[in-house]
Amino acid sequence: MSQFSDLNLNPILLAAVQKMGYDSATEVQTRVIPVAMGGQDVMVSSQTGSGKTAAFLLPILHQIMDAKELEEKSTTDERPAPRKGRRGRQPAYKMPAPHAIVMCPTRELALQVAQEAILLKGSHRDFRVATVVGGMPYGRQIRELQNVTLLVATPGRLIDLYKQREISFDNVHFFIADEADRMLDMGFSEDLETLHKSCINNRQTLMFSATFPPKVMRLAEGMMNHPLRIEISPKDTINKNITQILHWADGREHQKKLLFHWLENAKIDQTVVFVPTQIDAEEIADELKEKGLSVDYLHGGMQQRVRNRCLDNLRRGKIKILVATDVAARGIDVETITHVFNVGVPRQPEDYVHRIGRTGRAGREGTAVTFVHFKDKRLLDAVEDFIQLEIKANVIEGLEPKKEPLRGAPRGGGRRRPGGGAGRRNDSRGGRRESSARRTEGRGDRDRSRAPRGEGRRNESRNERRSTTDRSARPSRRSSSRSATV
Ligand code: ADP
Ligand code: MG
Repeated sequence: MSQFSDLNLNPILLAAVQKMGYDSATEVQTRVIPVAMGGQDVMVSSQTGSGKTAAFLLPILHQIMDAKELEEKSTTDERPAPRKGRRGRQPAYKMPAPHAIVMCPTRELALQVAQEAILLKGSHRDFRVATVVGGMPYGRQIRELQNVTLLVATPGRLIDLYKQREISFDNVHFFIADEADRMLDMGFSEDLETLHKSCINNRQTLMFSATFPPKVMRLAEGMMNHPLRIEISPKDTINKNITQILHWADGREHQKKLLFHWLENAKIDQTVVFVPTQIDAEEIADELKEKGLSVDYLHGGMQQRVRNRCLDNLRRGKIKILVATDVAARGIDVETITHVFNVGVPRQPEDYVHRIGRTGRAGREGTAVTFVHFKDKRLLDAVEDFIQLEIKANVIEGLEPKKEPLRGAPRGGGRRRPGGGAGRRNDSRGGRRESSARRTEGRGDRDRSRAPRGEGRRNESRNERRSTTDRSARPSRRSSSRSATV
């Protein structure tokens, strides 16, 4: 930890940081900012909620502000090729040419990063922040790109704009990949490389991720120049402030009863309930609403405008419970989330880490409760292998599971009784085991039967991709969101 005032930041940034109420820099900020300010490539892994956003925004904003080239260089004189059907282009039009690009896996995250950039740039007048994300109208997004300095974008839509010559990368000197692991999971690997290569004058690349699996390392090698690797508690990507609990359940109805019990009895400020499919999100939210609870749902099938409003309502405390699919997991950064519930175990062990990372933010305590169907035991094994931790099972009187699961035997841990240790911290299990993630695909009958209608996370990823890369999908028709520039 160190003081922001020790970091030699531009006074505008220092003032903004103070205005945001940040007392001291977090560990990742302390370690990354000085190196990145010096222009070096950096790859950083650090747990969710540790303040990675400011760790990359501050050094980039600092360098751009210091360069004093904002006024003259945020556009190029190059004219775009005339496009059919485009009327009323002013002769004075200059192609937008940002100085820095931040790539994000999801729209929600992009909007949050842009929001933070706007706060951090503070009173600087010539510094403009814009976002380019799928599901927003093209025309407006293009208009609002004028004079952009820092662009926050999802890869699919940005590649579209680039190919249509609506944007120039000639002035991009800073390229940042946030949540790189997630971008690869979502199939953005090629897009990311193409975009990075297109920034021919790029000077510095920063890559951030909660974890750095081998596939991310490979991408990083291609994109970076002798990067400095900064890892903060690499073996412990889960925040220490989060207490993890699981309940065995006989099926979906039992899972819901357990959830309702928790919602009615625990001291909950705000909570995110993760469910496998879009239909589950809507159904469970409806059921909770019928019980008189303050609830909304969020999934990738909703219009961007509605999704934004929903997140806003959560942030402002207008709703207490958000029922969501994994699409929402990364973006949600609300400090007052005290609990995360998982109805079912996510198929990708990484998703578990990202889901529960929604609580325990900014040094607060959080609780993550997972309701596990017996059939999903192997999904749970994969998660536990990934986090190197055996999650304590708990039972609620009157809501006990009908059968007791066999646990631990294949891994030599012996049989464990459910019921002990709710609310206690979990101990780490020492050495890392081979992940069993690969073995767990396609488990869970309910999920399978629902997949065509319900569209789980995989499908959501595809939807997002389609809507951002396929012109015929016409994302502008799907959404009437009002503003592309935040
Ligand atoms: P990450 O990207 O590592 O998951 P974020 O950048 O989203 O984390 O930051 C998590 C939360 O901590 C945000 O609410 C952010 O505003 C807050 N935060 C970041 N840096 C600081 C700081 N130095 N002091 C206090 N709060 C901070
Ligand atoms: Mg982040």
